[in-house]
Amino acid sequence: MVTLLNTWKRIGFIALLSIGLPQAQAQSLKVTRSLQEFKISVDADSSLNMVELTSLVPRLKVDLRYATNMNFTGVRLYPKGQQQTYLRKDPATALSRVAIELEKKGIGLWVWDAYRPYAVTVKFWKLIHDERYVANPSKGSGHNRGIAVDLTLYDLKNGSLLDMPTAFDDFSENAHHGNNNLSEKKIFNRELLREVMERNGFIKFQTEWWHYYWPNGDRYDVLDIPFKELNKPMRAIEQ
Ligand SMILES: [Zn+2]
Repeated sequence: MVTLLNTWKRIGFIALLSIGLPQAQAQSLKVTRSLQEFKISVDADSSLNMVELTSLVPRLKVDLRYATNMNFTGVRLYPKGQQQTYLRKDPATALSRVAIELEKKGIGLWVWDAYRPYAVTVKFWKLIHDERYVANPSKGSGHNRGIAVDLTLYDLKNGSLLDMPTAFDDFSENAHHGNNNLSEKKIFNRELLREVMERNGFIKFQTEWWHYYWPNGDRYDVLDIPFKELNKPMRAIEQ
């Protein structure tokens, strides 16, 4: 009887998950889909602006893995050759401060991803469908809001990446903060990145050493503006 009751509870719970919650969340998630709507929001609050990162962050390398099939999905999700990447104004400004600090040590920032159009998150979900690895579209992600960045460090002298705990999008425990079962060099470099990012206002993500996000994410809407639309007019907004 207990087993039967538990079974029914479980069925009820699954039904709630699969029918009730996602719909409720999807309804409450505000997604800005048009450039015009986005511009109106920026006119009302300039901190909502999206900044093309190489225009602000010195010595930044942009290596968008999702513009190639060299990513964990094996599928290209961004336009081929996409090299512009964006964050909202406050995290973009903070990232430029991080880069200025690191430049004095001969180190540069290397970005794998920042803003990600919402439609790509939906596509990710169809491909992977596992919340441990990809964001559930019913919630939207920090990348969709233009406040999350995936990055590592490189040597300004020879252009090579610094030795870090794992490669990008490695979902093993080696990618977790606090995991010290690694070489001293890997721990040193991970902590170097963490310390300078946190001091400039970013928050670390416990299971991915490369992912940092800006606080108060709820004040930034999820955006579904394709790169090709964002690439041109945004420069006009910045001027
Ligand atoms: Zn990320």
